This record gives sequence, structure tokens and C-alpha cells, in this order.
Amino acid sequence: TYVIAQPCVDVKDKACVDECPVDCIYEGKRMLYIHPDECVDCGACEPVCPTEAIFYEDDVPEEQTRYTAINAEFFSEL
Ligand code: SF4
Repeated sequence: TYVIAQPCVDVKDKACVDECPVDCIYEGKRMLYIHPDECVDCGACEPVCPTEAIFYEDDVPEEQTRYTAINAEFFSEL
């Protein structure tokens, strides 16, 4: 799955939302989140993010790896 990380916080550009073929990018209060069970790993969202906040789960920078859980937890609270 793909993960949205720290650069999205308080930015929420939303360019990614239009690119996602399965509409699995959701808006929260301070950032956007990718639903880990709905993402089909197409990669379309990653290059359009102006803040480079989107990473494949194995490629999330070390200092931002907590965002993988943060994306998943957003949906567990719904
Ligand atoms: Fe949507 Fe594809 Fe990005 Fe997953 S990788 S969030 S399916 S655009």
C-alpha cells in the first residue's frame, strides 16, 4: 500500500485525490490518508503530490515510518 506522510500535514493539496482510480484517499482534519485495504498500489498519486508526501510503504523515509500506522489508524477510528 501507499502511505501519506508528514509533508501533507496542514497542506492537503488534494492533487492525489483526482488521480486515484479507486478513490481510496480520504480527507482528515490536518492531512489526507490512504486506506491501506483499498489501495491497489498503482502509484498514480505519488508523482502528482507537490510536497512529495506519498511513498510506497517500503520506501517511507525512516523518520516518517510512523505515518504508515497513522494512515491505518485513521480508518480504524471511523
Ligand atoms: Fe490510489 Fe493508486 Fe495512490 Fe493507492 S497508489 S492511493 S490506488 S492512486
